[in-house]
Amino acid sequence: MRQNIVAANWKMNKEVQESYNFTKSLSKKLLNLKRTHIILCPPFTSLFYISELLKNTSIALGGQNMHYEKSGAFTGEISSSMLKSSGCDYVILGHSERRHIFNESNEAIKKKIDAALSNDLKPIICVGEKLGERQSGKTSEVIRSQYKSAFSDILEYEINRCVIAYEPVWAIGTGMTATPEQASEVQGLIRNLIEEQYSKNVADSMPILYGGSVKPTNANSLIETENIDGFLIGGASLVEELFFEIVNIVEQYSIE
Ligand code: PEP
Repeated sequence: MRQNIVAANWKMNKEVQESYNFTKSLSKKLLNLKRTHIILCPPFTSLFYISELLKNTSIALGGQNMHYEKSGAFTGEISSSMLKSSGCDYVILGHSERRHIFNESNEAIKKKIDAALSNDLKPIICVGEKLGERQSGKTSEVIRSQYKSAFSDILEYEINRCVIAYEPVWAIGTGMTATPEQASEVQGLIRNLIEEQYSKNVADSMPILYGGSVKPTNANSLIETENIDGFLIGGASLVEELFFEIVNIVEQYSIE
């Protein structure tokens, strides 16, 4: 059975004290979850401070990005071991804002995935097409090429430590959500690609998240959909009540 995951991507929001207060209050509410794994991805500046709060809880911490080199003259960057030593188990890689605002290529993202895996971090690997690509019928071509680049040479024991998030670029932060059918179709394609490369067993156990304007009002119909094992949430993860409501929807669905 696949694990359900809800990951919060705070992006460039919340200063240190605010992150701390928010996590303190939220984590108390999330203590009794039985089936949903929560991953909080705050800005780098809050990681260590929050990690102290999350000790002895099942809530995991993740970075939002990292560099692929181990150390050196890369001003403004952060390495996998820095994330690990700040309490992270996860790192978001290939987020569309990194791909399209910061021009990260498939090749750079691949190097980051390899670096994360070799430093005991679990990558949350984001893939997704732009609006124009969807409109011109290129969705599966884009997803295939992002998948193939990210997963080439990844061994079976390593893929078990990866999480994939399908995030259509046109749905991120826009209020537009993929319909359950659109999301399920692409997430099914991703699962087929995993099966082709590894096995049905590996494909069946891989958590594939959906991200793109998830809210309490659409979480139910999305989580009921085949191939959606949880969410990567931006905007709604900044508001305690909204995030908690979405987590509860996923948790209730898991129990049924
Ligand atoms: C995201 O940043 O990964 C995301 C899905 O954002 P939002 O939920 O705001 O669309």
